Amino acid sequence: MLRQALLTGARSERLRKLVSTMPVSSAIVSRFVAGETADEAVEAARRLLADGLQSSIDHLGEDTLDREQATRTTNAYLTLLERLSRAGLTRGAEVSVKLSAIGRALGADGEKIALDNARTIALAAQNAGTTLTLDMEEHTTVDSTLSVLHELRRDFPETGAVLQAYLHRTEADCRDLAHEGSRVRLCKGAYNEPPFVAYQKPNDVDRAFVRCLKILMAGQGYPMVATHDPRLIEIASALAMRHDRSRGSYEFQMLYGIRPQEQLRLVALGDTVRVYVPYGDQWYAYLMRRLAERPANTGFFVRSLLTRS
Ligand SMILES: Cc1cc2nc3c(=O)[nH]c(=O)nc-3n(C[C@H](O)[C@H](O)[C@H](O)COP(=O)(O)OP(=O)(O)OC[C@H]3O[C@@H](n4cnc5c(N)ncnc54)[C@H](O)[C@@H]3O)c2cc1C
Repeated sequence: MLRQALLTGARSERLRKLVSTMPVSSAIVSRFVAGETADEAVEAARRLLADGLQSSIDHLGEDTLDREQATRTTNAYLTLLERLSRAGLTRGAEVSVKLSAIGRALGADGEKIALDNARTIALAAQNAGTTLTLDMEEHTTVDSTLSVLHELRRDFPETGAVLQAYLHRTEADCRDLAHEGSRVRLCKGAYNEPPFVAYQKPNDVDRAFVRCLKILMAGQGYPMVATHDPRLIEIASALAMRHDRSRGSYEFQMLYGIRPQEQLRLVALGDTVRVYVPYGDQWYAYLMRRLAERPANTGFFVRSLLTRS
């Protein structure tokens, strides 16, 4: 119930206006968001790398409704990649992109605009010596994201994509993408999806996650296991061993600010761990999804909102 209310709230303009008056420095926002500027994101990547952690940096923003905004977001990625490169961090830091942030929702031409912008970012990433991963959004956009992935991979074969275990279709998508050179980030899924497309019970989502993991670990691609769930992390490690995967032929991924000690524990075991680092002033929808995942965070959130700490 609370999860659904928070995910619905992620789409509420009135709540967005109220919550967005909190400074990014407030404890609840800064726990999950690295800052508002590219320099703050680069600094976060530097700190993570010093601890042996890689990163995937996301310029926050979704539901871009005009072309200039899509161009501004694309340019923000170019600036970020340039700063990462200048800081000598691109071996340990890549970028994550939401197609909705770079124009997909702009009418009939939206997908083409998003593809062109994604190409521009992928080229900059390649020139900087790093990669791009396409985030996955609502189920209505999965075909579009996979089609953009397919196009991008012709010129930038290292482009990665996210698959969400909660969708009924995802096992089949894992089969399609478990080929050599394919980078697939598997996560549970963070949106409010209806029962005709997505598993609703946490146990069913976990079981689907394991079925997807089995396909990806048995395949020829590069699985990126994006979860904080201790049971799934253990199962992923066991499956990697069963399939004779060396460390470095798969990786774990977690979100900035969530289970940092576990991130370090896996690094100490020799695993590759990448932290998803969001930054920018459009942090509202991202924050609401993080709160929805852990209702225990909500009391802290409401107190922060009331005191604007
Ligand atoms: C690198 C990365 C990229 C992602 N990209 C996408 C994407 O493109 N599309 C998409 O739909 N989803 C994405 N997600 C989010 C994902 O779908 C889940 O919503 C999120 O990871 C929580 O699921 P979980 O697997 O950690 O399991 P859960 O069962 O939610 O959590 C397991 C445990 O992790 C801890 N934990 C989890 N979330 C929180 C939190 N918010 N605050 C505090 N503790 C927490 C708790 O200890 C919890 O018991 C991404 C996640 C990661 C890690």
